[in-house]
Parts: sequence; structure tokens; C-alpha cells
Amino acid sequence: MDPITKAIRIQTERTNEMEHSTPLFLTSSFTYNNAEDMRAAFADENEDNIYSRFSNPNTTEFIDKMVALEGAEAGFATASGMSAVFSSFMALLKSGDHLISCSSVFGSTVTVLNKYLPKFGIEVSYVAADKPEEWEAAIKPNTKMLFLETPTNPGLDIIDLEFAGQLTKKHNILLNVDNCFATPICQTPIQFGADLIIHSATKWLDGQGRVLGGAIVGKKELIHEIYLFCRSTGPALSPFNAWILSKSLETLDVRMERHASNAFHLAKALEGHEQINWLKYPFLPSHPNYAIAIKQMKNGGALIAFDLKGGIEGGRNFLNNLKMLSLTANLGDTRSIASHPASTTHAKLSEADRLAVNITPGLIRISVGLEHKDDILQDILQALDQI
Ligand SMILES: *Cc1c(COP(=O)(O)O)cnc(C)c1O
Repeated sequence: MDPITKAIRIQTERTNEMEHSTPLFLTSSFTYNNAEDMRAAFADENEDNIYSRFSNPNTTEFIDKMVALEGAEAGFATASGMSAVFSSFMALLKSGDHLISCSSVFGSTVTVLNKYLPKFGIEVSYVAADKPEEWEAAIKPNTKMLFLETPTNPGLDIIDLEFAGQLTKKHNILLNVDNCFATPICQTPIQFGADLIIHSATKWLDGQGRVLGGAIVGKKELIHEIYLFCRSTGPALSPFNAWILSKSLETLDVRMERHASNAFHLAKALEGHEQINWLKYPFLPSHPNYAIAIKQMKNGGALIAFDLKGGIEGGRNFLNNLKMLSLTANLGDTRSIASHPASTTHAKLSEADRLAVNITPGLIRISVGLEHKDDILQDILQALDQI
């Protein structure tokens, strides 16, 4: 069965009512008819539901669909993308280990890497997404994991997953990929050798800006370690959020197709606009990593980035001129969203620190939604015209 069909058809539980849509199992624990059944449920390799910190029919259904979509062996659902990121580090790394991350990863991930992992004696170093020829030299005898995000945020660089898979296999280190921006519809890093995949389900997996959630999928023995860590430390996804997210996965394929076709339309229409220095979209031949993008992605995804000639002031004016697009810190919604990192999310950093992570003064990132493509384009064009 195709993974797209599985994302629609996998159903863990029905009650005696035989409802068509999976019900919500709002329960913190599960009961037993007798002491023998209860003892069996607690036996080691048993997968019965015991307590919703460990598993629940709703969280199981969501993660089973994610495992199918990513082509993974197993998975665990978490309360947020960040709890997925943190749990994957804490369960698999120990004091004295070394982790290599690409430098352009999600902001809170950088905080975890810089502030929390060193507290536990885990060494972290960074490599540049656009200089893979330098990565091998960063590997040390104690390197245990390479952590990547592709496309990168907010610069939309594309990292060659096949290269990363071969490099990590050669040196026997784990490849952990945050696949949030591409989603499994657009890119499945396991096929290129990734051992673990992280998701913020808060973004396109929900796709409607309603709930927080996260997922970790990958090799069975690694997921077992992560499961044991999560079972004891408690970053479990709530059954309600899992119920929402599992329903959302049924439409992920059709939504991503429209997100990507809208984004491609906008990217082509805006490239070369007189207010814009450069525009990046992975499936435009002008993208510096176009050849890698078409090798490993099924479409260019839902994000476009461009640099305004007007710099900081131009970016601020652009946001203020928008009539329809939302100004919000989130992305991956049915509603198109514009952000100007230099004057908003990254305003506290110095210009030099921003440039070190490729945030130019005029950088605008658009999370392209599902509105009619002409309405999104019109709003952006009128906002550009009045800068
Ligand atoms: C949002 C995001 C996260 C964190 O996810 P939360 O659900 O907000 O905790 C991690 N990685 C990427 C790429 C993200 O965009």
C-alpha cells in the first residue's frame, strides 16, 4: 500500500459503535480485567496501552502514519518539535560525545545545542550548509551524530542528503535530519541514509495553525532508546493534539501539492522584480543548489525567500503594507505568512550576528498558504509597489 493511502487508512482503534472516524481517547490510563492481564501489560516488550505518557491509541495512530510516510521502522510522538529534537539528543548521546550540526538550524535548536548539551558534557560544533567539502574535517573520534535541516531556515539552502548519508555511513555516525520544512511528501531522508527524522508537527503536518506536536521516526533500535527516555521523562503528545494531527495527515499530500504549486507560481512571478535583489526557491533553476533540490525533493516546498533592496527599512515597510498576508511567528499554515527576521524575530541580534546566519537586512520569508495564488501575489505586489 502506498504511504499516502496508509496516511488515510491507518486506524488503531474503534469502539463498539464502529465509528468511521477514529474517536478521541481522552484518558490518562487504561484498565485491566484481572491481575494476570495487568501483569502481562507490564511485561517488557509488550505494546499494550498502559498510561498515556507511554502510548495512547491516538498518539499511536498519528505516529504509525508518520512512520509510513517517512519509510521508517518505528517512531515516537512528542508534545512539540523541540521536545523531539531534545529527546533525540538526550536519549542517544552521553557525556564526552561530539555532535556536529549545520549552523543554519532552527533558533531553539541552537539554544539547546549551545546552552544545554554542554551542561551534560556533550561537545557541539557547527559546519556551514553551503560548504560540505569542509564537513569531513570536522569529524572527530568521539563524533556520534550529524544534525541537519534542509531546506535551511531562513536562507533556503539545500543540503545534499545523499552526500550526508555517505559521509555518516563511512564514519559510522548517526544522521539525524529535521525534515520539518520539506515534510515527508516532498522529501524522505531515510532513502538517502538518514537514521533518524525529526518533525515539528506544528507546521505543515497540522497545516492549519492549531496545535503543537512533534515526531521522531527512524531505526527501530534507536527509537527504542528514545521511547525509553520519553517514557520516563514525559514529553508525550496529548491525545487531543494527536487526534487533530492524525486527521491532518489524511490531507497532507493534497495540501503540500497546492502549497508547492502556489509557491512556485509566486517565485516565478516575483523573481526579477525591481525591488528585489535576489529570490530563492529550490525549484527555480536560479537557485544555487537547484541540481541537488531536484535530485532529492519531489517539489520545491512552501517557502520562498527574497532580499529587498530597501534593507531594514524596506522590510519594515513591506510588512506594514501587506493587507492579507499574516504577520506571525509561525509557518506552515493554510494562510500565507510573511516575516522579516531582521526587524522582528532576530531584531535583538547585531547585524554581524544576523549576517553570520545569512539573515540580510532585507530578507523576507514567505510561508505560502492555500489561498488562491493570484490573491497572494496581488498582496505581495501591492506591498512591494508602496515600499
Ligand atoms: C518550528 C520548528 C521546530 C520546533 O517545533 P515546535 O513544534 O515549535 O517545538 C523545529 N525545527 C524546525 C525546522 C521548525 O520550523
